[in-house]
Amino acid sequence: HRFSVGLTGGIGSGKTTVANMFAERGAAVIDTDAIAHQLTAADGIAIAPIRAEFGDAFITTSGAMDRAKMRAHVFSDPTAKQRLEAILHPLIRTETMHAAAQASGLYLLFVVPLLVESGTWKQRVDRILVVDCDEQVQIRRVMQRNALSEPQVRAIMATQASRQQRLQAADDIILNDSDPATLVPQVERLHALYASLNQP
Ligand code: ATP
Repeated sequence: HRFSVGLTGGIGSGKTTVANMFAERGAAVIDTDAIAHQLTAADGIAIAPIRAEFGDAFITTSGAMDRAKMRAHVFSDPTAKQRLEAILHPLIRTETMHAAAQASGLYLLFVVPLLVESGTWKQRVDRILVVDCDEQVQIRRVMQRNALSEPQVRAIMATQASRQQRLQAADDIILNDSDPATLVPQVERLHALYASLNQP
């Protein structure tokens, strides 16, 4: 059993930024969001079951899932969301475990955006690391990066766990609401801790 950390945080909190810093220091980083994207990209293994369940209308001419269309569909229809998740979640689990088995690194670090919302992920990791961010800062960053309005960002945040719920689930917290340089000592302290906890 390799020591495993689950890294989570709200949209735009800095998960990818922080995960890259752990990877540079030798952690085996497995990004479940990237895996989900691959599954639904052209020729991804989720395309055939999605086509069978939702029809050709949800597959683009290049053979990928039509993300914008599917997002709108599952937003307006909760049962569609469940049906999509029933297809994706087992595939994400299998692909994630496959990636973990092949990864070399001092310990495993899984990036899981909705970890706090997911009972299974909470059980599967040894430790939960939350990237925390002031909500105003978070909203400003996502508005800039994705060209969204504040109400649009707030609507996405409303579908995720609250800042308070995430902090309650956390074993460790990285605060990312100022200069990126402030991340370095926080990452280095936790990297040393995780590497030491991986000892057999
Ligand atoms: P998502 O949930 O959307 O995948 P994320 O949690 O992975 O996002 P990042 O992509 O790492 O977050 O960061 C969100 C945006 O904020 C990016 O554009 C990133 O460059 C920027 N950013 C992250 N940390 C900082 C910081 N400390 N100062 C300024 N900008 C930052």
